[in-house]
Amino acid sequence: MKTIGLLGGMSWESTLTYYRVINEEIKQALGGYHSAKIVLYSVDFAEIEAYQTSGEWDKSAQVLTTAAQALEMGGADFVLICTNTMHKVAPQVQAGIHVPLLHIAEATAALLNEQGIGKVALLGTKYTMTQDFYKDKLIEAGIEVLVPDPQGIEEMNRIIFEELCLGTISEDSRSRCLEIIRALENRGAQGVVLGCTEIGLLIEQQHTRLPVFDTALIHASKAAQLALS
Ligand code: GLU
Repeated sequence: MKTIGLLGGMSWESTLTYYRVINEEIKQALGGYHSAKIVLYSVDFAEIEAYQTSGEWDKSAQVLTTAAQALEMGGADFVLICTNTMHKVAPQVQAGIHVPLLHIAEATAALLNEQGIGKVALLGTKYTMTQDFYKDKLIEAGIEVLVPDPQGIEEMNRIIFEELCLGTISEDSRSRCLEIIRALENRGAQGVVLGCTEIGLLIEQQHTRLPVFDTALIHASKAAQLALS
């Protein structure tokens, strides 16, 4: 079994999901007392969030690259950045290590292709929804990407940073999020990508008839498969 390197803490609320899902999948595959071999580097999210707000992406790339190098030295055979947003600096992080980085949007695009979904709604932070670094990975895979209107983008971003990353789950926000999803469904979305690793704490498949693609679950599951391959 390969050793998985997790670059987590962004936020730790969703890193918990990765730890649980990877171990569940390894247990399911191997049975008994088997569990995943994981090295975790959990950063201080306050530092990363401050760099996002000030637009100092190079500084956040430096922090994450140093952390990824520590994972490699700790024995990781491959590395996951456990957040969609920070894949903005994935190329710099990959350039700083010798082991592969398992890209969250590539894993998601592969599953969308497998399921024949050609047009998706993308929910995430304002960085993920409005910039190209993430959407381009889906577009390159032949998938059309719809994002909420400007008000929806602001609201999703607020829910992520002011609630989900702080561990707050609110019924009002769930309803608002479902309204945003419905509007995107009316624009032709065939599925909704939860392109922020915390949204799965609020929205699950049971809440909407639109097929849900939770990137934290997809990414974690892909890591477990790769560890066993
Ligand atoms: N975990 C979130 C994501 O997947 C947001 C936190 C962050 O900005 O990294 O984008």
